[in-house]
Amino acid sequence: MALLNDNYLKLKAGYLFPEIGRRVRAFVEANPSVASRVIRCGIGDVTEPLPPAVIRALHAAVDEMGVRESFHGYGPEQGYEWLRHAIAENDFRRHALNVADDEVFVSDGSKCDCGAILDIFGDGNRIAVPDPVYPVYVDTNVMVGHTGEADANGAYAGIHYLPCTAANGFVPEPPDGPVDIIYLCSPNNPTGAAATRPQLEAWVRYARQHGAVILFDAAYEAYITEPGVPHSIYEIEGARDCAIEFRSFSKNGGFTGLRCAYTVVPKSLMARSSTGELRPLHPLWLRRMTTKFNGVSYLSQRAAEALYSVQGQSEVRALVEGYLGNAALLVAAAREAGLTVFGGVNAPYVWVGTPSGYTSWQAFDKILAEAHVVITPGSGFGSQGEGWFRVSAFNSRSNVEEVARRLKALRW
Ligand SMILES: *Cc1c(COP(=O)(O)O)cnc(C)c1O
Repeated sequence: MALLNDNYLKLKAGYLFPEIGRRVRAFVEANPSVASRVIRCGIGDVTEPLPPAVIRALHAAVDEMGVRESFHGYGPEQGYEWLRHAIAENDFRRHALNVADDEVFVSDGSKCDCGAILDIFGDGNRIAVPDPVYPVYVDTNVMVGHTGEADANGAYAGIHYLPCTAANGFVPEPPDGPVDIIYLCSPNNPTGAAATRPQLEAWVRYARQHGAVILFDAAYEAYITEPGVPHSIYEIEGARDCAIEFRSFSKNGGFTGLRCAYTVVPKSLMARSSTGELRPLHPLWLRRMTTKFNGVSYLSQRAAEALYSVQGQSEVRALVEGYLGNAALLVAAAREAGLTVFGGVNAPYVWVGTPSGYTSWQAFDKILAEAHVVITPGSGFGSQGEGWFRVSAFNSRSNVEEVARRLKALRW
């Protein structure tokens, strides 16, 4: 009899988004007359079409694929050199950050990379994640057996949760004791908080002191508007010795349906083998990618390259500024309604405190029933998310204006 991976049985069966879906369906069935009024500000997916520069690059790449002379089969597993070069040059070296072309690994998504990266780390690492958290960081560790069972609150034994609260501005602080692998997401999903330079410096100092590795998720880098906020962990001195950075074209170029992302593994980043030797992680990730991955489609890579053209850059700015404008409207509306608000300045997520007496799910039900708007309850992202909800700015301007009006009219 084949044995299954018992770790999967520990997973809390995809609770948050199925439960949101269930409650929305129940509401719509019970209230068919307002079904068409329901506006979804729940899931973190972009809504606007791909930039014209991307569409042009895609058309050209499709035509190339239809001609023997310019057809492309398998490409390099780590990504085409022209794309790795464009990434390293535009996202790092142009900002005086030292990242070599061959430290960039192109992939089909940061979500996949966040999970796959665990392949190159041993068992027995002490894992630290923020709370509230992007669930992928936790569940991928559960799947590979880095945790025990979950408790009644959904917290897994063996994971070190870093509390993010209003008191620390939803940016986690280094723990007192040692941990080995640290997930940081800045700007943050779900809270919209962005770590300042001193906050990231404290993390890099901690990681170097403890020989820890920071897994830095910068999927929302393009949304940073405040001048002091670092765009890359490599802006912090010493980070090349302790950090891996994940970036994605999903939220800047609108690639959630097209798929392209990348991961930076500096060659100077080391970890310890079980025999106690310090070894670089870069060759392990290269081996992992060339063995288990067969590259992103030529079309997606040409499309990603087009984001770095002059036209592509200005179209990305317009997309991002559109969503940030939405976020500003949502922030203003929630404040006007007398609610406590974080985020929405360096991120497309607005993190709103529920008025006292309301749990996250009670606020969800009230906003759905009375404003016909779907938000995401903060408690679904971790116990520290209780008492908060996330409003996504990924929507059309007209929908966001309507949501803002309804939030302001809501009586708690
Ligand atoms: C959207 C998102 C990503 C990007 O994932 P892709 O797989 O590249 O689409 C990564 N991290 C976080 C926290 C996100 O919200």
